[in-house]
Amino acid sequence: MKKLIRNFLLFFLIFIAIAALFSTFSQNNEVADVGIEKMVQELNDNQVKSLVVSGNEIKIELIDGSKQLVQKESGESLSTLLSNFAVDPAKLQTVAVTVQEPSGWSYWLGIILPFALPLLLVALFLMFMMRGAQGMNSRAMSFGQSSAKDFNLDNKERVTFKDVAGAKEAKEELSEVVEFLRYPKKFQDLGARIPRGVLLLGSPGTGKTLLARAVAGEAKVPFFHMSGSEFVEMFVGVGASRVRSLFQKAKKQSPCIVFIDEIDAVGRRRGSGMGGSHDEREQTLNQILVEMDGFEISQNVIVIAATNRPDVLDPALLRPGRFDRQVVIDRPDLKDREEILKVHVKKKPLDKEVDLKRIAERTPGFSGADLANLLNEAAILTAREDKKSIGMAELFSAIEKVMIGPERKSRVISDKEKKITAYHEAGHALVAHFLPNSDPVQKVSIIARGSAGGYTLKVPIEDKYFHAKSDFLDEIAVLLAGHLVEKEIFGEVTTGATSDLRRATSVARSLITDYGMSDVLGPRTFGQKEELIFLGREIHEQRDYSEKVAEQIDAEIASFIAQAGAVAKRILDENRKKLEIIAEALLVRETLEKEEFEALLAPETAKVDLV
Ligand code: ADP
Ligand code: MG
Ligand code: ZN
Repeated sequence: MKKLIRNFLLFFLIFIAIAALFSTFSQNNEVADVGIEKMVQELNDNQVKSLVVSGNEIKIELIDGSKQLVQKESGESLSTLLSNFAVDPAKLQTVAVTVQEPSGWSYWLGIILPFALPLLLVALFLMFMMRGAQGMNSRAMSFGQSSAKDFNLDNKERVTFKDVAGAKEAKEELSEVVEFLRYPKKFQDLGARIPRGVLLLGSPGTGKTLLARAVAGEAKVPFFHMSGSEFVEMFVGVGASRVRSLFQKAKKQSPCIVFIDEIDAVGRRRGSGMGGSHDEREQTLNQILVEMDGFEISQNVIVIAATNRPDVLDPALLRPGRFDRQVVIDRPDLKDREEILKVHVKKKPLDKEVDLKRIAERTPGFSGADLANLLNEAAILTAREDKKSIGMAELFSAIEKVMIGPERKSRVISDKEKKITAYHEAGHALVAHFLPNSDPVQKVSIIARGSAGGYTLKVPIEDKYFHAKSDFLDEIAVLLAGHLVEKEIFGEVTTGATSDLRRATSVARSLITDYGMSDVLGPRTFGQKEELIFLGREIHEQRDYSEKVAEQIDAEIASFIAQAGAVAKRILDENRKKLEIIAEALLVRETLEKEEFEALLAPETAKVDLV
């Protein structure tokens, strides 16, 4: 569209230019143009010194020296004209008449231009059309080309290992790849085969993409970035052709890195038959495999792929010679989290009292992306408060925002609902406090956040990778506490406990079907989770157990929930007084930090001054 307008403008300009040229040639500005009658009269009055006929123009010079111009009909000679106007031939004798051939090229221009101009315009127009069509054509041809982005090396945004905090093992593994790319000869001389593929595995936001770019940055080689989904188009065959062109480009630039992000989009197990267009994916995947097998020893192209779903990948991708190196990137632990925070605060002014270690302690389970997001939220909060540097309060507030959702202080709730929320959260907090396997309470609040009416924040003391049955049972008890308190104090329950109950049920189910922690059903798993590709979500569980076992599972879920419920109830009954103290405190202060909460539970503060 833009091009069309540009072409049109160009035409217009050319046209104007020609027209202007034309008019300067055909006009003689200094000379007055007079009519034939005037000329005839002047001739009769003997005022004319000379006449010069040039084409259609008659230039007149008068005796007094002034000049005039007369247009005559083309083809009519001067003598016919004069005799037609009955000019006395005797009067002409004193006049010098010269007939001049019109000057060379203005004459020709005058003849040719009227024909040539339209022709020229048509020709130009055709030319532009052709060119446009050609462009379209080449675009159609490039449809099957890869649009891989080749990151420029002297790019200022070049990422190196320094920008990736933590992930020590992954970096170690990958620095070998860097070595290969930098000094390929060293390895080739020893007959070592350079690894072809490295697969980065890790949950979303753990820095896989970042790490891949860092490898290219460290090795100082070109980096072709392409996302798995970019291979899959509407038309069958496009993906495979894009793979071909991508690898062709890469081989020309060797040594280099080809990075296929989110490879599970094309690398899913073949032949599952579920979901549309899997033919296309299979072809694409086959082409990737073929290309990877086709590397010569001398071609130092290393393919790095990233995925967060290694379980769905086709086994053929993982065999030696393809993605034989697999680097797992874990969620960062306490120390790594602090490091990541340090990387991301570099351009952010912080208060002096900010202790990033405490932030790291409060954010177990956060990924690198979550942490980056957290700092960004804190910076936004600080800006909104018109402060110049980020403080601890903003950071804590940002943690909760990232974890639970934005605060909704303005939500108007009735006193009755506020009271219910206060007791509900007090119940969660109290049970969590007294159960040995539950994480300590960090904060209790009845300010709505995200979709929650209130929340109890529990943070583990240390990073935990394994969980025992008692951990889960305690968790269920804490979840049920809100529901129990509502029933106990207000006589009936509200919808506020819905998500607690849902979560409790799903924990109980996982306990039995995934972790084999039920004594009744024994150490085995139940059900195979099948995934439907087009929804990208588990929605279908294939049963590998009988109807009878299904009943047993349901009964066992109920039994776990009853067991945990009884524990919670006992704690609540024994500490009824404390429950009320906390709930009342929440109604007054809305939020209790860890220290305040624990102070309220200490025996000597039975009668605490709440205001
Ligand atoms: P993934 O590809 O694994 O989903 P990304 O590599 O896109 O995750 O990471 C998202 C963002 O999170 C990065 O741009 C970076 O800002 C941040 N991040 C993640 N991990 C780290 C890390 N180890 N060090 C520093 N920043 C990180
Ligand atoms: Mg990514
Ligand atoms: Zn609750």
